[in-house]
Order: sequence, then structure tokens, then C-alpha cells
Amino acid sequence: MTQTIGYAALQQNAPLTPFSFERRELRATDVQIDILYCGVCHSDIHQSRNEWGGSVFPMVPGHEIVGKVSNIGEAVTTFKIGDKVGVGCLVDSCRTCPDCEDHLEQFCNKASFTYNSPEKVTGVNNYGGYSKQIVVNHEFVLRISDKLNLAETAPLLCAGITTYSPLKHWKIGKGDKVGIVGLGGLGHMGLKFAHAFGAHVVLFTTSPAKAEDAKRLGADEVVISSHAEDMQAQLGSFDFILNTVAAPHNLDDYTLLLKRDGILCLVGVPDHPHASPTVSHLIFKRRSIVGSLIGGLKETQEMLDFCAEHGISSDIELIPIQEINQAYQRILKSDVKYRFVIDLASLEL
Ligand SMILES: [Zn+2]
Ligand SMILES: [Zn+2]
Repeated sequence: MTQTIGYAALQQNAPLTPFSFERRELRATDVQIDILYCGVCHSDIHQSRNEWGGSVFPMVPGHEIVGKVSNIGEAVTTFKIGDKVGVGCLVDSCRTCPDCEDHLEQFCNKASFTYNSPEKVTGVNNYGGYSKQIVVNHEFVLRISDKLNLAETAPLLCAGITTYSPLKHWKIGKGDKVGIVGLGGLGHMGLKFAHAFGAHVVLFTTSPAKAEDAKRLGADEVVISSHAEDMQAQLGSFDFILNTVAAPHNLDDYTLLLKRDGILCLVGVPDHPHASPTVSHLIFKRRSIVGSLIGGLKETQEMLDFCAEHGISSDIELIPIQEINQAYQRILKSDVKYRFVIDLASLEL
């Protein structure tokens, strides 16, 4: 065991405070990582407040982890000390079910998530990336190119793959008209990827102040979703809409914008359900409402390599860990451009 320190919610709704704990002894197939940066995901707030139910405390959140390998188990040949690496939302899975065999570990019923989830061997609750150090099975560690800025890479591990994966799965490319709903941590990555894939990209937002930034990030058009006439002008015109908004809202506003066979893909989990969508809107044009969850390890690596090749990273605000509770308040007010990243150098052992 190695002693480390992090920031934890000691109980539901408690502010995050410094917390000492132990990481497991390095197993033969493990990689030990000194964490340099960790992104702050909205789901960290949901889980530290038990808004999805089932939270276990104390909880060290954080699943957008970037750092350097500080030690390797004797059976690890794919990483060496000093390598730049990342860890996302997953730290283990069964490896034998159909989902694992298809490289879709995120759907494995026995997947072990980076925090607030039991470790596969011991059943002990996992602690996440708001900390100095982590130990992870090498098959769940991702490689980060020297071309990428490490702090700006952290949010790719959740916000990045969450938007990259559905755009890839539904084969978005040149000639497609794609909507991105919401300009936050997910939405700003959705704009960058949809633009990079060659689609015509439309951002839907409630705040006119975001229009200029949206165009810088890759939007061809910006529609203010509260303007009925502007929404009307987009009816029946979209191949695919990626909806990143987690707050409950009327999905009909977006299903009506889809073409025949168009797809509305949800990636935000609301704490209360959306109103049931109008079924006739789906039936009459064979439209679909679908969901998507992060991505498997293979695709996450592909996404990181794509980002390195195309110069894509997240727009971030770097903060010391001592400001994490204020950062949570600002995320709840959508006051961040577009992802907070914790600089773990601010945390002293
Ligand atoms: Zn996340
Ligand atoms: Zn599995």
C-alpha cells in the first residue's frame, strides 16, 4: 500500500476536503501513475451529492486523469516509467462478456468505474483522480502523445470520448447536418469533433452571449433555442442531434428538427426524467431517440490519437484543488469556459 492524499466528499452534500488514504499494492499487471491534472466533470457533482442514488462515502471524485507512470508491475510491458498516460471513467471490466469482446467495456455489467464503484478483485470502493497518485490495471491506461498539452487533454477522457463516440458510431461526416445542444464541457467538444469530421454544425443554446465562441469552436450556425421562429426554420433538417443537456427539458423541440430517419442522441443523465416525448413525431418520420455512454478503451485511445493528429484539445480553466468547491458552484451556473482542470501540483502530501 502507498499512502496518498486527495480531496473527498466525506458524506453526501459535504464540501470536498483534504483526505488521506492508501492506494493498493502494485499487482503484476498494474501501472502506478503520478497524477498531474484531473478534469472536473458535472457527474462528479451529481455523485458527490448522491443525485443519482447509490453513492458511497467518503468519495474521491475525478475520472479525467492525466499523469506520468511512476512504477509498473512485473508483467507490464506496454508502459515504462515516465510515460504520459491517461485514465478515464473505467478502471476494469470482466474481459469475457460480449461487450468486452467487442471493445465496449463501458457496457460490461461487471465494469469497475474509476470512483464510487467497487474494485473488481477486493470489492473495496475505488477512489478517483482528485488525488496525487493512482494504481490502475495496464489495460485501462491510455497513452498520450507528446503533441498534446497535458492539462488540456484531461477532459478528453470523459467529455471528449462521450461526444466522439456517438458521432463515430452513427458515422457522422461530410454532408451531414449535425446539431449540438448545449455549450458546456460536452457541447464544446461536440462542436470540435463534428466540425473536424466535416459535418455542417449547428449549436443550440439558450444564451445569445455564447454565439461568437460557438463559431470559434466549430459551429457553422448558432440557434437560440428559446426563439420559436428560429427553431421553426430548422424543422426536419437534421441528420443527427447530439443533446448534451442533463437538465430535464422537452425533447419534442429536437425530434421535430430531425429529417426522416434522423437521430436524437442523449448523453446527459438528468436527475429527474425528461417529459415523455411525443411518439407520433418519431413514428411518422421513423426518427429515433438514442443514448450513448463514454466509449471503450480502444475507441478512447483512437480519440486521443485523433486529437493529437488534428490539434484538438479542451478549452480549460486551470485551478488549484483548494478552489474545487467554488468550481462546483460555477459549474452549476454554467460559468466555465469550458472545463475546469485541477492542477494537482497544488496538492501537497
Ligand atoms: Zn465525466
Ligand atoms: Zn465484460
